Amino acid sequence: MIEELRESLAGRVVGPGDPDWESVRTAWNLSIDQLPLAVVEAAGPADVEHTVTFAAARGLRVAAQAGGHGATKSLNGTIVLRTNALDDIWVDSEARIARVGAGVRFGALQTALDGTGLTSLLGSTGDVSVVGFCLGGGLSWFSRPYGSGAGSLRAVELVDASGSRRWIDDTTDSDLMWALRGGGGNFGVVTSVEVELFEAPEITAGRLMFPIDQAEAVLTAYASATATAADHVTLWAYLTHFPDAPFMPEPIRGQSFCMIDAAAPFHPAALEAALAPIRAAGTAVVDSVAPQTSGSIAGITQEPDEPTACAVVPISFDSLTPELIGTLLKQVGGPSLVFQAQIRHLRASTEARHAGVAAVDPAAKYVLNGLAIVPTPELQQPAVAALHALKEALAPWASGKLPPSFLGAEDSLADSIGEQYLTRLREIKQKVDPTGVLVGNYPLA
Ligand SMILES: Cc1cc2nc3c(=O)[nH]c(=O)nc-3n(C[C@H](O)[C@H](O)[C@H](O)COP(=O)(O)OP(=O)(O)OC[C@H]3O[C@@H](n4cnc5c(N)ncnc54)[C@H](O)[C@@H]3O)c2cc1C
Repeated sequence: MIEELRESLAGRVVGPGDPDWESVRTAWNLSIDQLPLAVVEAAGPADVEHTVTFAAARGLRVAAQAGGHGATKSLNGTIVLRTNALDDIWVDSEARIARVGAGVRFGALQTALDGTGLTSLLGSTGDVSVVGFCLGGGLSWFSRPYGSGAGSLRAVELVDASGSRRWIDDTTDSDLMWALRGGGGNFGVVTSVEVELFEAPEITAGRLMFPIDQAEAVLTAYASATATAADHVTLWAYLTHFPDAPFMPEPIRGQSFCMIDAAAPFHPAALEAALAPIRAAGTAVVDSVAPQTSGSIAGITQEPDEPTACAVVPISFDSLTPELIGTLLKQVGGPSLVFQAQIRHLRASTEARHAGVAAVDPAAKYVLNGLAIVPTPELQQPAVAALHALKEALAPWASGKLPPSFLGAEDSLADSIGEQYLTRLREIKQKVDPTGVLVGNYPLA
């Protein structure tokens, strides 16, 4: 099978037994031991068409993967189609539109936007692909004023389950376009997308780091600041414990911190006003809030670009009460298998949420992402157990659904999308891919 596929493609096909197999089959998240049938590194859209046609004719399944930040075991037994070589970026700053290939990461798009006064709806790292992020909902630095990554999708070029390349937008196929905005990779292999760009004439952003013993006061100030922050101001809070490991730089090694990340695309005075009570709640040992370019904002969170073994548990809630803060501090306020609890303040005006998008920005006001780094396989089970304990402890405050791009490897689309929308997604899937050739990281079963 692999030899036959190899002969018909310009890109590389790697299968079990090939010298690079062990490194090529892995995703960004190394704790997901994904076992595909083969990995195709498409050289261009024609390779995508050939691969899907080949698979459909033989009853095989295809799963698109960009970086693999959202890897799950659902890709086992599929032909994994990597799109990294599809890296074209075309920006029309007048029309505020960017057209990007399915391999383009946000870091590259943001760099291309430097000097335009515009931004895309990038998330916390520039290493995530525009396509993978937007198909999964996509919670951005700028989702409060401008909505989700999914809502920014204007058009999608995809290879459908029969191997044909099609251009989809709200005028050509509004049902499918709706499904693509949050329904993930279940409907086609995307080769490029057109996304809306947004005004960011004066980006200010950065990080405040406080010693962990100031965390209660800082999180309490964060709760009030987020309750009144202007719509364009985004504040994220973290409790982080840096492991006592040789790869950690000395000043943070073995230390715990409470951190606040902040960003605003314009009007820095509003950001400063929101930060003032937080700064006053403690003594920041780092304060990097400063003017940024479109390209530099991707570096604020200092998330790793290198593949990492990790597990996540997301929880959404509506208010940050003293009881919730106290419970959180007990769970992750010091050395713990949970490396980090990140809280994102989500909701601005309801207009910024795209009604009718399959997986809209969650209706809840905050989403918390518990993250455990799993440096050795033996730690996987205890780390997952620690995350579950965190989720259970916070259950009394949990409310509402999560964006699919925040789901953990063990979650399903039902944790994100209500039954009514799921039924509609399944109907669209049945129409466009009746034999189930295409597999997303969160299937529609
Ligand atoms: C360090 C880190 C930071 C993150 N930050 C954020 C954030 O700020 N906001 C947020 O919302 N999420 C975030 N995520 C979560 C989420 O994993 C990613 O947004 C998403 O998975 C995209 O990552 P990726 O480009 O590596 O996609 P992948 O993991 O490669 O793909 C995810 C899924 O998208 C679909 N897909 C990808 N490419 C295609 C294609 N060409 N055609 C069809 N389907 C496709 C497939 O179903 C695939 O399984 C983050 C994850 C990590 C690990």
